[in-house]
Formats: sequence, C-alpha cells, structure tokens
Amino acid sequence: MVKNIGFIGLGSMGQGMAGQLLKHGFNVYGFDVDKARASDFASRGGVVCNSVKDVCVKVNIIITMLPRDEHVCQVLLSAEGVVACASKGTLVLEMSTIFPATSIELNNELTKAGLRMMDAPVGRTPQDAANGTLLVMAGGNKKDFDSATPIFQAMADKIIYLGPAGSGIRMKIINNYMSMVSMVVTAETLAMASKAGIDMFTATEVLQNTVAGRGQININFPRKVLAGDITPDFPIVLGRKDLALALKLGEELKTPLYLGAVASQLFGTACAQGRSDQDCTAMLLAIEELGGSSDALS
Ligand code: NAD
Repeated sequence: MVKNIGFIGLGSMGQGMAGQLLKHGFNVYGFDVDKARASDFASRGGVVCNSVKDVCVKVNIIITMLPRDEHVCQVLLSAEGVVACASKGTLVLEMSTIFPATSIELNNELTKAGLRMMDAPVGRTPQDAANGTLLVMAGGNKKDFDSATPIFQAMADKIIYLGPAGSGIRMKIINNYMSMVSMVVTAETLAMASKAGIDMFTATEVLQNTVAGRGQININFPRKVLAGDITPDFPIVLGRKDLALALKLGEELKTPLYLGAVASQLFGTACAQGRSDQDCTAMLLAIEELGGSSDALS
C-alpha cells in the first residue's frame, strides 16, 4: 500500500486531514505558502517541503486542499506545478471546493499529461478534519477510487463514490446549496419566532422535534416521493394553505419571509400543474417539470 503522500494546502481543513494521515501511519510531505501553517504541520510529524516541485519528487499521490479555483489551477498547472513536475501516473486527489467546470478542465489537463485525478471534496468542519470524521464525495475513475480508499478512510468516516470525474464536486456544490438555503430559512424562522414573542431557544426545541427541523431529506422525501408514493400524507393544497397562514402572520409581525414568498408561489404553480391532491413531497415533481429535461451533461 502507498505510504508516502503529498499534501498541498495545510490550512484549517488540511492541517487536520494531514494530521490524521500521519496518525494512520502515512509519511506526509506537505507544502503551504504560509510558513506558520507549515511549522504546525512539522510539529505533528509531517515532512515540510519548500515547493510544489519538492512535493512532486517525493510522492506519487498528492492531495490538494486549497481555498479557491485560482489556487488549485496555480498549484496544478503553473510552470513549477504538479503537471510539470510530477512523475507519470501520479494520482491527484483534489479535495478543495471549486467550480465543477474548473475541476473537469483540470482533470482533462492532468489526463493529457499522463497523470490521474479524482475530485474528492469533503463535507463537515475543521473539527471533523481534526478528528478524522469528514465525509468524502468522490468522483473519478472507480479503480482510482478503490486504490485511494485507505487514504480517504484515514480522514473520513463516510466515503461516498458518486461516479465519473466531476460528480463528486458537483455533489459538494449541491450539498452546499441546500446548506446555505437552509441557513436562510432557519434564520427567517427563528427571527419570526422571536418577533412573535417566543424565546428562540424554546422555538429551537420545538423545531428540533418536528420534521421542519429534523429535515425533509431525512424523513418525508425518502419515504414518499423518492419511494414512488405521492398519495397524500399531507396534500400540496394544505401545504399551500399553511404557507399562506405563515405569510399572513409574517406580515402581521413585520418580519421578512423572502423564501416563504417564493415557496408560496411554487406551491401555487404545483396546484396549477394539477398536483393539489398529491403529497407535499411531490413538489420535487413540480420543480422537475419546471426545469424541463437536462442537456447539461451531454
Ligand atoms: P484555509 O484558507 O484555511 O487553508 C487553505 C491553505 O492553502 C492556507 O493555509 C493557504 O496558505 C494555503 N495555500 C494557498 N495557496 C497556496 C499555494 N499556492 N500553495 C500552497 N498552499 C497554498 O481554507 P480551508 O478552510 O482549509 O478550506 C480549504 C478548502 O476546503 C476550500 O476550498 C474550502 O471551501 C473547503 N472546505 C472548507 C471547510 C471549512 O469548514 N473550512 C469545509 C469543507 C470544505
């Protein structure tokens, strides 16, 4: 099994991830432009390299965990970057959060140069990185995934193979979309509770114990529409009524419910599509109908 791994980008996430690799017995050759980060890494037992090139000569598996597209492109494609300096067959595990099209383009460039790349971004937090409890969403060649699995296992307790190159990073962006939109709906909801004179912690206790807080993705969607069942546990027409009640209360309380207004329109659209008596989870079908068929991947 591969024991030598290069790690480029030893920041909030990379520091903990590299630390877990060291704990699991890998020799880690790390590089970060920030000297303080590099010396933290050295204190964990890592070997500090002075450049990307220096990493490339030591290993044939390299992890990149960098802030943005431009940093990843620079590390992989610059004159002294990975494509120029790594030996043929080197596997790059690109674990940053970047734009999927950039990731796919980089994958093509690396493949042309005789290297291999997987997009393997992560979910969860720097604390999880430090504890080795990240979630990896991997896209790329299945054989590369299988060979990289022991490396992922050192850093994560949940590893999911999504499919060909680009599907891991697409899933990561989709995950973050849901996460950030939930941020807004949670903020709207708690602000509304507060305006209604309800203590936010008490409101949180209620929401933690209903589907609203426990998550449609955990409960209703897998049980109903994803299982092919849109018989109404709670029909769209009643969901629309409840949204109207919430918007009316929001107006009375003078609290902003931007997402609620959009959701209310979408429930109305679903009714216009003839879905009034379908289960609320059939909102998935309503949205799919609005989106039409996709040619994005062809
Ligand atoms: P960070 O800014 O803390 O760390 C990035 C590190 O990369 C820094 O130490 C920086 O000095 C280094 N770096 C920048 N350019 C470099 C270069 N050319 N060569 C070598 N090192 C370079 O960022 P982070 O929080 O560790 O996040 C890394 C990636 O992981 C991002 O894409 C982020 O979106 C993603 N992510 C972050 C979290 C989180 O909670 N922080 C969670 C999941 C995913």
